[in-house]
Amino acid sequence: MSPVPHKPSIDLVIPVYNEAGVVEQTHARICVAIESLPYDFRFYYVDDGSTDNTVASLESLDDPRVKILALSRNFGHQAALTAGMDASQGDIVITMDGDGQHPPEMIPGMIDLVTQGYDVVQTQRVEEAGPASFKKWTSGLFYRLINAISGTRVLPGAADFRALSRQAVDALKAMPEYHRFLRGMVSWIGFSIIILPYKPAERISGISKYSFSKMFRLAMDAIFSFSLMPLYIGLSMGGLLLCLALAEMVYVLSFWVTGRTSNLAPGWSSLMFVILIVGGILMVLLGFIGVYVGYIFQEVKRRPVYLIKKAEENKHGRT
Ligand code: UDP
Ligand code: MG
Repeated sequence: MSPVPHKPSIDLVIPVYNEAGVVEQTHARICVAIESLPYDFRFYYVDDGSTDNTVASLESLDDPRVKILALSRNFGHQAALTAGMDASQGDIVITMDGDGQHPPEMIPGMIDLVTQGYDVVQTQRVEEAGPASFKKWTSGLFYRLINAISGTRVLPGAADFRALSRQAVDALKAMPEYHRFLRGMVSWIGFSIIILPYKPAERISGISKYSFSKMFRLAMDAIFSFSLMPLYIGLSMGGLLLCLALAEMVYVLSFWVTGRTSNLAPGWSSLMFVILIVGGILMVLLGFIGVYVGYIFQEVKRRPVYLIKKAEENKHGRT
């Protein structure tokens, strides 16, 4: 747990993409929710290359606390969040969507938890037991898969609605990787984390900007940035083929031992053997290359080898 100043300054990072009809309402709602709080707030609206009047809507917000960061094109939600966090300077940073689905009423409670010492206050979407939708089904499948093959646990239903201490933000900034999956990265950095469940509200208006292809790309970023499992597939397949070659050898030998070689189709045993052995060896070699690629991949990601939580001088020790 890291110390938070007595009266922390708070930055709200809100990525928006084609939300022209929405940002005014979002902003008004957040203002109401934080009205009575005695902190200094700053809003970082990150325009993710919108093609509608989002920037004009943001500029028309009559609030000196608002900063607008406009990206040169649509880089995606995760990149927009990163841009906002990089620009932020506050002691506490809260990231949330600009479409009203993340209830701003939770902000005071989240700030309290960070001031109590939590570095990450992570919200978790709890869905009402409604009819199963395609999005729900694919999201459930995704979390099961990523948790099965990755060493970093990703909370099912985790949203990009979270409060972070300065220490946690700096830790995320120290991860310069290009393909970013913040839900995994937040879990990877460690520190003290608390989970708050919430019920997502309806979108204020407009449609979801997460098209199927964007969701698919996010899932790919998560899988390939947090797991080397796909690279080990070659190795396991090769091992499997070599086992099959062995089984075939035993099978053919059993014909020889029992003197039933005439029952074997001519050429079958040698052909099968060659196929299995060659296939197996190729796969194993491919697997080895996969392992090397995996190691290279981890190196080029330039993630820090460790993160320090607290470094203290022993004041009572020797001077
Ligand atoms: N968003 C963004 N860039 C994108 C897609 C979405 O900045 O390429 C923003 C969007 O404006 C919203 C937030 O990210 O504020 C979450 O997106 P959305 O509501 O479309 O996702 P969903 O809630 O459907 O998962
Ligand atoms: Mg949304």
